[in-house]
Amino acid sequence: MKKQFVIIGLGRFGVSVCSELHELGHEVMAIDMNEDKLNEVTDVATHSAIADGTDEKSLRGLGVRNFDHVIVAIGDNIQASILCTLLLKEMDIPDVWVKAQNYYHHKVLDKIGADHIIHPEHDMGHRIAQHLVSDKVLDYIELSDEYSIVEIVVSSSFHNKTLLETDIRAKYGVTILAIKRNEHVNISPMPDDKLFHKDVLVVVGRKKDLKRFESIS
Ligand code: ADP
Repeated sequence: MKKQFVIIGLGRFGVSVCSELHELGHEVMAIDMNEDKLNEVTDVATHSAIADGTDEKSLRGLGVRNFDHVIVAIGDNIQASILCTLLLKEMDIPDVWVKAQNYYHHKVLDKIGADHIIHPEHDMGHRIAQHLVSDKVLDYIELSDEYSIVEIVVSSSFHNKTLLETDIRAKYGVTILAIKRNEHVNISPMPDDKLFHKDVLVVVGRKKDLKRFESIS
């Protein structure tokens, strides 16, 4: 279903979110106080406007309060980011996402009711570090402090064995969500499905169990 979003602040992060939402078929109103920044989204934003995200009148004038989803992607100006978020929550916008710069910024955003607080650099750093330390891990998504999902390449030790024979869940406490083989993805594999060397497993579990599984798989 097509959704409508507002993005306030068109730095690298805001532009990248805007392009991706457009690519996914959604409508985006892009706002920045700097006119030059709007040129970067002419092809991907449905509407664009020069406005200060901390100016309540401007936000109301643009009809921002009629949107359900707003992303505050104002970068370094923490004060502006906080004030803008506060205005949006006062307008009762149900789903406000805000890019946080640091721990203190995060804490304030949490207090004033931001619905989702994101740390793109930190999250990306985490993912990249996982790739760096293990050549088996292809991708990594953190679900919580305790759990994550990883993509792991199957080593030769599991080659030609069924899931039942490998007994992965009982031995390591992790669950195989899918097996990828070339272009084919087997979702919710069955116990008698076989693994082959170089298959890619999508695995969910406790981080410490995943580490243990990675080291032997
Ligand atoms: P990034 O780290 O994602 O590249 P930047 O700090 O470079 O982020 O960019 C933030 C953007 O937010 C800039 O384009 C800037 O013009 C815009 N911006 C900053 N303050 C406001 C504000 N009060 N209202 C609207 N846009 C703003």
